Amino acid sequence: MSYISDIDPEICEVLELELQRQDEKLNLIASENYASRAVMEVQGSVMTNKYAEGYSGKRYYGGCEYVDLAEDLAIKRAKALFGAEHVNVQPHSGSGSNMAVYFSMLEPGDTILSMDLTHGGHLSHGSPVNFAGKLYNVIPYGVDRETETLNYEELMELARKHKPRMIVCGASAYTAEIDFKKFREIADEVDAYLLADIAHIAGLVAAGVHQSPIPYADFVTTTTHKTLRGPRGGMVMCRQEYGKDIDKSIFPGIQGGPLMHVIAAKAVAFKEAQGSKFKKDQEQTVKNARILSDDLVERGFHLVSGGTQNHMMLINLNNRDITGKEAEAAFCKAGIVLNKNTVPFETRSPFVTSGIRIGTPAATTRGMKDSEMLQIADFIDQTIANVDDDSALGMICEDVKELCHRYPIYK
Ligand code: PLP
Repeated sequence: MSYISDIDPEICEVLELELQRQDEKLNLIASENYASRAVMEVQGSVMTNKYAEGYSGKRYYGGCEYVDLAEDLAIKRAKALFGAEHVNVQPHSGSGSNMAVYFSMLEPGDTILSMDLTHGGHLSHGSPVNFAGKLYNVIPYGVDRETETLNYEELMELARKHKPRMIVCGASAYTAEIDFKKFREIADEVDAYLLADIAHIAGLVAAGVHQSPIPYADFVTTTTHKTLRGPRGGMVMCRQEYGKDIDKSIFPGIQGGPLMHVIAAKAVAFKEAQGSKFKKDQEQTVKNARILSDDLVERGFHLVSGGTQNHMMLINLNNRDITGKEAEAAFCKAGIVLNKNTVPFETRSPFVTSGIRIGTPAATTRGMKDSEMLQIADFIDQTIANVDDDSALGMICEDVKELCHRYPIYK
């Protein structure tokens, strides 16, 4: 921080405080992770100075010979990592990636069959407050009331009834494995496009610890910063036949100049994801989630779907007489960062909610394993038992800090 401390001491202090917060708090936010120093170095590099509208070899600006190399590398590595036929690494975000797919294949008013936000879907899958909900005729699907998992037979019935032009699968808060093959069968039955949004599980898919949608979906979108552990951003993968349409939809359709520093950092993250350390970490992420969820179930918590088959858990707090909002605030006092979350068949508003969502990617990246998960289950249990007791929460906070100090993020 030698430059920033001279030029802007105020922002320098903010960065130092944020680093301290990340180091001392236990991050259980399922969508967050810690990018490597290499990824961050590239994001803060000279690549940020370059305009490069267009695509490699066909730019609207001169001087793109080196940014072309970076974008080519990012595409080549993403193709190898996921086995995709065509990849576009330019989307600035996950929402923008979904927008690019919709804009390339759909007309306003077309029908999309996608997962309801309160059942685990993402805003950009068609929530009424999002562009997708405003532009398209969205038919939402949810989980089964009994199993709290997807019911593929009911999904087939919904698809037959509404004949969507596109089916969207993938979620922000769904803890069972998604069967992309079954989604393909449903899409084929009604002649719909299939979009798989793997923003949450991309790292698991890349490491082979979750079924891959690549053989089944026409389009696969992702963010690059969750389990994939790269810079913040998005990416679209698709079959070769849709490649040109997707590229046009992203530029010039919805974006101008690509963020070349982020694209170069995506290339670095994809290289890291090809290594054995990444694969081991993804396996441990899933193992950690299972250990944590098993222990929480034993302690009487209601885990939606009964547990987890991926990196995240959704805890329905209705049997604890506490809202998601109250729980989030208590965890904050205990030094644990997580988010309140709606649960299937939610009765409260999204600002209050009946649940919390937690995940293991960030803790696993720090190096935490089986025994730390049992300690974390105890922290969670103790926090929920002491939501109104600030002094008990303060004591948990000290223990959390001690655990975090044993696992520094940037050694
Ligand atoms: N898709 C899913 C499944 C997500 O969970 C998210 C983010 O949480 C997104 C898309 C959107 O990503 P972004 O925040 O980059 O727009």
